[in-house]
Amino acid sequence: MSVFFAERNKTLEPYTPGEQPREQKYIKLNTNESPFEPAHLVKEYVACAGEQLQLYSDPTLGPLVKEAAEYYKVNENELIFTNGSDEILNFAVMAFAEELRFPDITYGFYPVYANLYHLPYKEVPVKDDFTIDVENYFGNDGMIILANPNAITGIALTVEDIRKVLEQNPNHVVLVDEAYVDFGGESCVPLIKEYNNLLVAQTFSKSRSMAGARLGVGIGNKKLIEDLNTIKFSTNPYNVNTMTMWAGIGALREQEYFEKNCRVISENRSWLKEQLEKRNFTLTPSKANFVLAKSDAIQGMVLYEKLKEKGILVRHFGKKRIKDYIRITIGSKEQMRCLVTAIDEILGERT
Ligand SMILES: *Cc1c(COP(=O)(O)O)cnc(C)c1O
Repeated sequence: MSVFFAERNKTLEPYTPGEQPREQKYIKLNTNESPFEPAHLVKEYVACAGEQLQLYSDPTLGPLVKEAAEYYKVNENELIFTNGSDEILNFAVMAFAEELRFPDITYGFYPVYANLYHLPYKEVPVKDDFTIDVENYFGNDGMIILANPNAITGIALTVEDIRKVLEQNPNHVVLVDEAYVDFGGESCVPLIKEYNNLLVAQTFSKSRSMAGARLGVGIGNKKLIEDLNTIKFSTNPYNVNTMTMWAGIGALREQEYFEKNCRVISENRSWLKEQLEKRNFTLTPSKANFVLAKSDAIQGMVLYEKLKEKGILVRHFGKKRIKDYIRITIGSKEQMRCLVTAIDEILGERT
């Protein structure tokens, strides 16, 4: 820390991203990226956009907003695009939060934002089976963030449950983070017409194979979007670059490719679940592109390390309630087969 670091920042605990090794030697199943390349049109449009980089990007992202409004069946003023959906979270916390509530087991970035803006927050414990009891979110105590399906566990809430949370919190924004919704969850986007306190965040990072492009979208009542734009234009008006804007348009225009990839991930998830259960693993009922799994035969941290030695990266979280587990991103069938083979070797060594 330098002597110049402002007093208010001295207690910050930044988010720790999953490992991103640059050598290609790992099968990377640790940060929920897609095993599939971006769509053809994405690559094509990015190349064209590269020829216009002497100009600033469009701060309103007009062509992308137009395309997305049709796709999501909302008005253009009910959408905002950001540099990854992490930026939606950031803008939303900046714009709307005085206090925050979110589950104790969820995306690790939520408490980071709370600390960044020195906001009090409550981590509401999930039940023993890691499901969320929505009644814990009734009552008006600040902004709520719910990842749906939830991060780390993959467990989804129904739209009806979220509707109850919205109705019980008319004076606070409920941010539903749908980073994983395309793999089997149910989207709350249609509810934005009914609830002025609902903000939905989605990302192109996972289901659309664009983690490196950084594109997120926020969908909500036009007044909420107006406020988010006030924050955006007070922070970084050119938050989405021209290449990424066109990548987003390309992705939305190749709907079939996207749907096929989501289907394959969900099939591979079922296959992996079955294989791990045969080997006495316990898994959460995930609707996301990852599973959270534990074995009674081996500790989570040890399994993580042994898999890494064998060239397979998964994620282990030190947090007490989930330290016995590893989180495995669903990849291609071939990657899943390699993983199962490696797990068999590791478990075999120990008996
Ligand atoms: C991956 C993830 C994000 C962030 O995605 P980006 O769009 O890549 O910033 C947000 N929320 C959850 C729950 C995630 O898992």
